[in-house]
Amino acid sequence: MAAYRGFDYLLIDSQLSGEEKLVRQTTRQWVEERLIPVIKDCYNQGRFPSELIPEMGQMGFLGANLEGYGAAGMTNVEYGLIMQELERGDSGLRSFASVQGALVMFPILTFGSEEQKKKYLPKLASGEFIGCFGLTEPGFGSNPGGMTTTAARDGDAWVLNGEKTWITNGTAAHVAVVWARTAEGIRGFLVAKGTPGFRASDIHGKLSMRASVTSSLSFSDCRIPDSMRLPGAAGLKAALSCLSQARYSIGWGVLGPAMECLEVARQYSIERKQFDNRPIASHQLVQEKLAWMATEVTKGQLLALHCGRLKDQGKLDFAHISMLKRNNVAIALECARMARDLLGANGIVDDYPVMRHLCNLETVKTYEGTDHIHALVIGERLTGVAAYK
Ligand SMILES: Cc1cc2nc3c(=O)[nH]c(=O)nc-3n(C[C@H](O)[C@H](O)[C@H](O)COP(=O)(O)OP(=O)(O)OC[C@H]3O[C@@H](n4cnc5c(N)ncnc54)[C@H](O)[C@@H]3O)c2cc1C
Repeated sequence: MAAYRGFDYLLIDSQLSGEEKLVRQTTRQWVEERLIPVIKDCYNQGRFPSELIPEMGQMGFLGANLEGYGAAGMTNVEYGLIMQELERGDSGLRSFASVQGALVMFPILTFGSEEQKKKYLPKLASGEFIGCFGLTEPGFGSNPGGMTTTAARDGDAWVLNGEKTWITNGTAAHVAVVWARTAEGIRGFLVAKGTPGFRASDIHGKLSMRASVTSSLSFSDCRIPDSMRLPGAAGLKAALSCLSQARYSIGWGVLGPAMECLEVARQYSIERKQFDNRPIASHQLVQEKLAWMATEVTKGQLLALHCGRLKDQGKLDFAHISMLKRNNVAIALECARMARDLLGANGIVDDYPVMRHLCNLETVKTYEGTDHIHALVIGERLTGVAAYK
């Protein structure tokens, strides 16, 4: 297989600045040199390549679009391009970066006290600390507003009880951002690893996102000081604002596997011969699939770039992000399925990245708002009628 060079059918690169292309190229090279050589084994062993975290910090990948406290302060388009390249490596690595930046650093920066920002943000940006985000519960996935985890005021402290599940980085995290119901409504808390009453355990048996840590968190009379509450985080909308940041990163990220699957299938179709020693690319049915993939990837690139420019202008809102996340995940998944098909039996083995991307993208379709939930967000924006219940 030739070296990976991305995919640019419609000359969209002409819309990127020199700095944006440099950020993409630097990330692509890092992924090629540091992640690609190990990812197949990591995935097969069900291991996250945690040895790469400090380098990700040095490269400015963690909280890349945030300002101050050690974050790189890049534009949202540069950040998106980083996510695209990381996820071309593996969705697990991009998930790690999304959680660390959008779901841990962002809430601390946006809702945290000065003391919390100084204590946590520089170490999260450098990768010295790992964070996780606990919103989902065993009984409340798509409907986090129903959460039953509680935080009860007790003098100068809070006492947490409840359970969170499917939490990326859970057992690896030095600090967990945890959402709980209080007498005043939903609030966000920082819970440090080792706090008595707080336990994390890994979820096993995953056939998707194997190179990613996924855990359950439990809180049993877990007592934390009021200084660990995020003072600016009031209501579920605070948690949802973090999800918007992460969903934006996913909308870009999934273009990575989509482009790689297209490229692998394109090259394979030229090299693979069937029927009178002719390349399978000579069949109209094969070309139709490649044309579909190329068109949808191109539309996805335009959607991501437009959303990135809007975000840099402060004009991107959550309903725009729902369209970005939903569309780009759906087309990436379909590209992976088509590529798997075009590779025939070779499509199911790990000599190619296609099946791994396909399995990972099934998770990406579910987390951060399922395809259905984002359809309902768009539907509500169009009609003014909420149809979640
Ligand atoms: C690998 C992985 C990592 C994750 N990481 C995190 C994390 O770091 N932090 C975190 O808090 N969570 C995390 N999650 C959880 C994830 O966000 C949830 O799985 C997701 O919100 C869906 O919830 P659920 O799995 O309970 O599915 P459910 O909500 O039970 O949904 C099941 C199905 O029902 C459909 N459905 C539900 N309600 C409606 C409705 N009103 N209308 C139409 N269809 C509906 C859904 O679309 C879906 O198809 C992760 C999940 C995975 C798999």
